[in-house]
Amino acid sequence: MILRVDYLEPDVSLTLREAAEICLMCGVCCVVRGHACHVQYDDRFGPRQTYVYDCLGAEDPAGNPNIWLCVSCHKCEEICPYEVSPLRFIEALRAQAFQRGLIHPVMLGEVEQVLSTGYAFPLTPSAARRREELGLEPIRAEAADELGRIAEATGFARKLRKIKEAQG
Ligand code: SF4
Ligand code: SF4
Repeated sequence: MILRVDYLEPDVSLTLREAAEICLMCGVCCVVRGHACHVQYDDRFGPRQTYVYDCLGAEDPAGNPNIWLCVSCHKCEEICPYEVSPLRFIEALRAQAFQRGLIHPVMLGEVEQVLSTGYAFPLTPSAARRREELGLEPIRAEAADELGRIAEATGFARKLRKIKEAQG
């Protein structure tokens, strides 16, 4: 299966292999401290094997568990002098991984959290208390019903159930 994603310019799309080829492995997106990818601080990566190239250059990119470390901050896209957008590929790889049932368990938990409440973060009693202290309205999980219907209608919920079954 060829992975093709939209690119920075309208009507431009590249395969992962093409993107990996236009990436010159200059390392700028990962080694300029304070401005580059924060995942690079992980000991597993270094100047010779940067996080971005670990994602773009893997043998089975969608099967690489490291694609789930990216937090979609867009720093790599902004700093790359050659207009390569590693983030777009990482996002496309995650979509491909999801289709293969390879979603990371932490991400699976986040997806379930969003579907059940409409919020990406747990709605804790302390958050509710803090909102009250600040004079903010209580959070209402009103979007959950609608999200649930969308997830069922699009087959997303069925796919999630299959993945959960397979992951045990
Ligand atoms: S994505 Fe851009 S900045 Fe990062 S290594 Fe490739 S060419 Fe360099
Ligand atoms: S978007 Fe992902 S890959 Fe790019 S700098 Fe942020 S964490 Fe790193």
